[in-house]
Amino acid sequence: MEYEGRICKGPQERAAFMLPVTVGCSYNACRFCLLFKHLTYRELPLEQIEAELQRVASVGGAPKVVYLGDGNAFHLSTERLLTILQMIEKYLPNKPEVRMDSTITDILAKTDEELALFYEHGVRRLYIGIESGLEDVLQLMCKDHTIPQAEEAIGRLHKVGIAYGAHIMTGIAGRGRGIENAEGLADFFNRYPPVAIVNFSVFIHRRAPMWKDIEEGRMGVADELENMREERRLLELMDLPGCDYDGMHDLIEFRVRGRLPDKKVQMLAKLDAGIAEWSEKEPVYPIVQ
Ligand code: SF4
Repeated sequence: MEYEGRICKGPQERAAFMLPVTVGCSYNACRFCLLFKHLTYRELPLEQIEAELQRVASVGGAPKVVYLGDGNAFHLSTERLLTILQMIEKYLPNKPEVRMDSTITDILAKTDEELALFYEHGVRRLYIGIESGLEDVLQLMCKDHTIPQAEEAIGRLHKVGIAYGAHIMTGIAGRGRGIENAEGLADFFNRYPPVAIVNFSVFIHRRAPMWKDIEEGRMGVADELENMREERRLLELMDLPGCDYDGMHDLIEFRVRGRLPDKKVQMLAKLDAGIAEWSEKEPVYPIVQ
C-alpha cells in the first residue's frame, strides 16, 4: 500500500503496523501544525483497507499493534470504524491492539456505549494532542478543545478501559511561560494519567500560522534552554507510574526518554547536565524556514 502524506506516530509506536484509513486531518487548524496542511482530509475506500489486510495476512503477518492512520482516524463514524475493526479481527486473528490518533472533539462526539464497543473490538489506546496545560495557550493555538473538555473526554475513555498517549510541546506557551506551562501540564497529567507522553519540543515554522502570532507580538519564542528547564520541571512534578516518556528537540541533539518512575532520576540528571551545558552556549531558537 502506498502511504500518502507524512508518517505521524509517536516513537513508542515504532513497531506498530501502520494501516492508513484516512488521509490528512479533518480538523487541520492548529496554528503550529503543518503536517497535513497540503492535504484535503478524506477517508480511504474500505476495499483498499481490506486489500492491505489481506496482503498482510497472506504473508503471515501477525502484528501485536495495528496503528490506524492518519492525523485523527478516530474521527471516522462509528459504523465505519467498527467495519474496519471487524476486518482487522477477520484478517489478524492474533487479536492485535488497535491504536490511533484522535482529537478531544472526536472522542466527545462518541457515546459511552460506542466507546465501550470500540474497546470490545480491540481499541486500547488513543494518542491525543494535549499540547499545553494552559487554557489561553490552547485558544491561541486554535486547538479544538478546552481543558475541561479534555478532562471529560479522557475520563470517559478511562471508564471503558481505553488508555491515552499525550502529545505535548515544551515551548508552546512562548518565552517566559515554560515553568507555568509545565506546572499546568503536570497537574493535568497527574489527575488524568497517560500511558505515554511524546514531547516534541516546539519548532516554529515560518510558514505556519503561529509565525504570525510571533510577528504580531502575541507570543515570544522560548529558546531551547528555557524549553529544557520547562521539561525538567514537568518531569519533576509528574507522578505517573508506568508512563513511557520521550522528549526530543528538532534543532539541538538532546533527548531524554524512559519509563516513569524508574528512570525519573536518570532523566532529571540528564536534563540537569544539558541545562548546565546549554547555559554556556549561545541561545538556539527553534525556528525553521
Ligand atoms: S489535530 Fe493534530 S494533526 Fe490536526 S492540525 Fe491539530 S496538531 Fe495537526
